[in-house]
Amino acid sequence: MPPATPASSERLLEVQNVNKAYGRGGKQMMAVQDVSLTIHAGEFVCLLGPSGCGKSTLLRIIAGIDSATSGSVLYRGRPLVGVNPHATIVFQTFALYPWLTVLENVEIALKARGVPAAARHERALKLIDTIGLDGFESAYPREISGGMRQKVGFARAMAVEPELLCLDEPFSALDVLSAEGLRGELMELWHNRAIPTRAILMVTHNIEEAVLMADRIVVMGKDPGHIVAELPITLRHPRQRKEAAFQIRVDKVYAAVTGKRLIAPQANGLHGKNKLPRAHLNALAGLVEKLLADDGHTDLARLSSELVLELDDLLPIVEAGELVGFVKVREGDLLLTPLGRTYAEANILARKELIAGRILRLPIINWIYETLQRDDKQRVVWDYFLDKFEEDFGDRAEKQLDVAISWGRHAELFAYDDNAGELYLEN
Ligand code: ADP
Ligand code: MG
Repeated sequence: MPPATPASSERLLEVQNVNKAYGRGGKQMMAVQDVSLTIHAGEFVCLLGPSGCGKSTLLRIIAGIDSATSGSVLYRGRPLVGVNPHATIVFQTFALYPWLTVLENVEIALKARGVPAAARHERALKLIDTIGLDGFESAYPREISGGMRQKVGFARAMAVEPELLCLDEPFSALDVLSAEGLRGELMELWHNRAIPTRAILMVTHNIEEAVLMADRIVVMGKDPGHIVAELPITLRHPRQRKEAAFQIRVDKVYAAVTGKRLIAPQANGLHGKNKLPRAHLNALAGLVEKLLADDGHTDLARLSSELVLELDDLLPIVEAGELVGFVKVREGDLLLTPLGRTYAEANILARKELIAGRILRLPIINWIYETLQRDDKQRVVWDYFLDKFEEDFGDRAEKQLDVAISWGRHAELFAYDDNAGELYLEN
C-alpha cells in the first residue's frame, strides 16, 4: 500500500493575495478576493467549495489563461507572465475533435507542442496504453463512452507532460461507476509515478472525492470567493470510504465548509452583504421533517447521501434553516432547534404563520412587506424593488428578488402579479 505521496518543501506554485474582478465601471463583481495558496512538489491539493466561489477562475489564473486583477502568481519563484507552460487543465467535459480518432486526438496535443511526427505516434500510443484505452486507438469519440472520452481528455493533458496538472471537476459529468474507476486509475498513475507530473491541483465540490484523493484540502467560500480553511488529509492510500477514519475526515471537512456559513439574522441587512440563500422553503420543510424523523439530529455527510443532494443544493437549504432559526449546524452535524421541532410538528396553517413571523424578521423580507403596506393599493411595481436590490446585489439582484418573492409567497405574505408586473400584499 503506497503511503500518501510526501510533499517536498519545493514550492512549485505560489498564489499571493490574488483578487479577480469581472466587469467594468459600476458593474464590477468580485469573483475571488485575497486568495493566497502554495503548492509544493509531490502534493495533490483539492480546491473545494460551492459553485460560484471562484474555483475555476483561480485555476484559469494559475494556468495563465486568465489574469488576476491584482496580486501575484509565482511559478518556481518567478512571476507568471501569460500562459503557464508548466500547467495544463483538464475540464469537466473535455472537448475532443469528433472527426479525429482517439489516437489522433492525443497526437494533436503533441503536434501543438512541436513533437515530431514519428515520436508523436509512439508517445500517443504509449499514453493511450497507460490510461487503459488500448484497443480503442482507432475509435471515434462518438463510439466510446463518456468515461472513455474523459480518459482521452486526461491522456491529451498528460501528453504535454505538465509539471502541474490542473483538474476542473474532471469526474462530475461521469456516471458514478465511471467516475470511481477513473479516480482510481488517476491515483494509481500518480502514486506509481507513471506520469512525470509533479503536483496535482483538483477543483471539486464533492467532499468525499476530495477526502479520497487529496493530501490537502483548501476549502473556499463565496460572495466573494475566498479561502475558508486548509485541511491536511494524511490517510494512507488507497483510502476506503467505509472506514471510520475516512468518515471522520469527511465530517471535519463538512464542518469547515458549513462552519463559516452561519448567518446571524440581524447581520442580514438590505444594505449588508448577506443575501437570502437560494432555497425553496418547501425544501426547508422537507429537511425539518427529515430531521424530526432522525430524532432531531443528523450528520450532514450522511444526510447529503441519503437525500442524494449535492452539497451545492443542500447548503442553501441548511442556510435558510439557520436563518429562520429551525436548525443549527455544529461540527458537521445538523440539529433541529426547539422552534424547528414546533414547526415540524405543526399543521399547515400553523406552519405558515410560524414561518411568516420568522421571515419577517429578515430585513430584506421586512422591507418588501413594509413597502407594500405603505402603498395605498398595497401594490408596487416589480422594477422598483429590482432597482433597490441592484444597489446591494448588482447582477444577482434579479435572482435575489426571485428568492424573496418565493419566500413571501410561501408564507402568504406577498406575491407577484405577472400581468401587472407588480408585487402585492396577500391577506
Ligand atoms: P466556480 O468554478 O467555483 O463555480 P467560477 O470561478 O466559475 O466559480 O465563478 C466565480 C464567480 O465569477 C461566479 O459568480 C461567476 O458568475 C463569475 N464569473 C466567472 N467567469 C466570469 C466571466 N468570464 N465574466 C463574468 N463573471 C464571471
Ligand atoms: Mg467551476
